[in-house]
This record gives sequence, structure tokens and C-alpha cells, in this order.
Amino acid sequence: RAKSAGGNRFELADPEADARAITRHGLTTALPTALERGEFFIEYQPLVHLGDGSVRGAEALVRWLHPQHGVLGPDRFIPLAEHTGLIVPLGRWVLEQSVRQAREWRELHGGAEAVGPLRINVNLSPCQLTHPGLVQDTVDILERTGMAPDALCLEVTESALIGADDDLLKPLRRLAEMGVDIALDDFGTGYSNLANLRRLPVSILKLDRSFTQSMQQFPADPVDLKIVEGIVSLAHSLDLAVTVEGVETGAQADQLRILGCDTAQGWYYARPGPPERLHELALVDATG
Ligand code: C2E
Ligand code: MG
Ligand code: MG
Ligand code: MG
Repeated sequence: RAKSAGGNRFELADPEADARAITRHGLTTALPTALERGEFFIEYQPLVHLGDGSVRGAEALVRWLHPQHGVLGPDRFIPLAEHTGLIVPLGRWVLEQSVRQAREWRELHGGAEAVGPLRINVNLSPCQLTHPGLVQDTVDILERTGMAPDALCLEVTESALIGADDDLLKPLRRLAEMGVDIALDDFGTGYSNLANLRRLPVSILKLDRSFTQSMQQFPADPVDLKIVEGIVSLAHSLDLAVTVEGVETGAQADQLRILGCDTAQGWYYARPGPPERLHELALVDATG
């Protein structure tokens, strides 16, 4: 696009924006072959029980090892995959890989099941929610891997469910009835009506990182404390568990534990990493 202001009609509007657009275009066209060539991989970040610090499971986070650009985070390519529809096969691949991985951890752990088998959390895009194959694909993957539905938690963002009608909620309800947990991701950013929560088939709220960030000082901002306290008490009265994301310091963990949050995730415990790392962390934890 040429800029007409300033008399220089042929000046490019923003060379950096053009470079970004080219990269975006390049990445978009490379996505399908990337899936075929196995350029995607998954890192796992532990989910830790706030009460006793034990590892209870992990969230699967997808990455793309691009041959020219190196490792790309999901924020770089998930929106593109959603735009082109590739998110459906990519999401299915992530789900199958992650459930297989959870199955492997379970076998490796053998007797060390004092805190129950490790659970696996997988993110779902709004496009996957509206795709008619979601329930059957999930059932097939659980069957192929021999995993119980209650080992799986699907994370859906709050914004994806705002104003959701019954058609959109139906597949999630079916999955929830089978025993799959549904978590409301990035909760607290979407301005959803709290009373609306009763209508959603969710069993876990994942409190957005912005709340965790405001717990940085000890004691934290009194208004933020009240807000989190209110969300936790509402969640618990609706029988929902509360997970907090983005815990980076011990002070944050302490505040959030005092406020009654159940599970935590963040760099304070571990960065996302390869599956062996999660296995080590969980095993150390289970054997003392
Ligand atoms: P999310 O589901 O909210 O995942 C948490 C994000 O916070 C991850 O970013 C994680 O690496 C990051 N994080 C974890 N602990 C900390 C911390 O202590 N401090 C800070 N600053 N950040 C932390 P990541 O891996 O870049 O993923 C970004 C988003 O991409 C995810 O947000 C999720 O919405 C999406 N995503 C990741 N994998 C998938 C996938 O397989 N499918 C879909 N549809 N979306 C995915
Ligand atoms: Mg998530
Ligand atoms: Mg999240
Ligand atoms: Mg988040």
C-alpha cells in the first residue's frame, strides 16, 4: 500500500509490516507440509498442586521447528492455522500425541501412583469446537491409546464460549458426560457473565496470568485480592476447581494458595519442556 500523505506517493507505507505480511504468507503456505514433515513438536509444562507441591499433570503446548526460522511459538502460527482450517488436523495431532505421552508416563510410573495418574491438558481452538468430528476423534484417540477419559482435560478459552449457544456447547457436554474435564482458559479476561458459568459444562477455571501478575507484591493490591477471593469462592461453590497460570515467584504461589486456588502452573515450578523432563519432575516428586 502506498502512502499518499506528504507528497511522496510511492513511498511504501511500512516496510516492516510488509516483511511481516510476507512471513505470515510464507508461514501460512508452509503449514500443511510442516504437519506432513513432522515439524511440530510438543512441550509439556507441569500442573502442580498448590497445597503440597506435587506434580499432578501437564499442559501440552505446541511448537513449530521451522527449517528457516527456528522454533516458533503457538502465537506465531495458531492464528494462521485457524484461518486456513489446518488447526483441525493439527489439533487432532496434538491431542493424539499428548494422550499417547500421558499413557507413556503412566506406564513409566508404575507403582508411584500415590497422587493418582498424571493428567494431560490440551488446548482447543474455537474452530475445533465447531468441527463435527471433535467428539468422535476424541473417543477414538482415547480408545486407541487405552486412556480413561478422566485423564484428559480440554482447555477452551473463556472468549470462545462467550455467548455460546447450545449447538456449540453440545459437543463439550458430551465430552464432559464421558468424564473428560473441560477447563475455561484465560478466565477473567473475557468479561463473561459469572452467572453464565452455571450453563457451561466446565469443571475447572484457569485464572488468567494477569491476576497472578498482580499478586507480585506481598501483600498484593487489596482490590485484586478481593477479586480473586471472590472468583475462587464462586468457583468452589459451583464445584469448580481453580488453576492459576503464570506463577513466576514464590510470593505469588503463597498468595494464591492462601486465597484457596487449587493448582498452579508457571516458571516458578518449571518452564514448558520435553516429555522426559516432566517425567523426571513427577518421579522425583512421587518418590520424595
Ligand atoms: P495458554 O493455554 O494460556 O498457555 C499458557 C502460556 O503461558 C504458554 O505460552 C506458556 O508457555 C506460558 N507460560 C507458562 N508459564 C508462564 C509463566 O510463569 N510466565 C509467563 N510469562 N508465561 C508462562 P505458549 O506456549 O506460548 O502458548 C501460548 C498460547 O498458545 C496458549 O496459551 C494457548 O492458547 C495456545 N496454544 C498452545 N498450544 C496449543 C495447541 O496445541 N492448540 C491450540 N489451539 N492452542 C495452543
Ligand atoms: Mg491453555
Ligand atoms: Mg491459559
Ligand atoms: Mg493465558
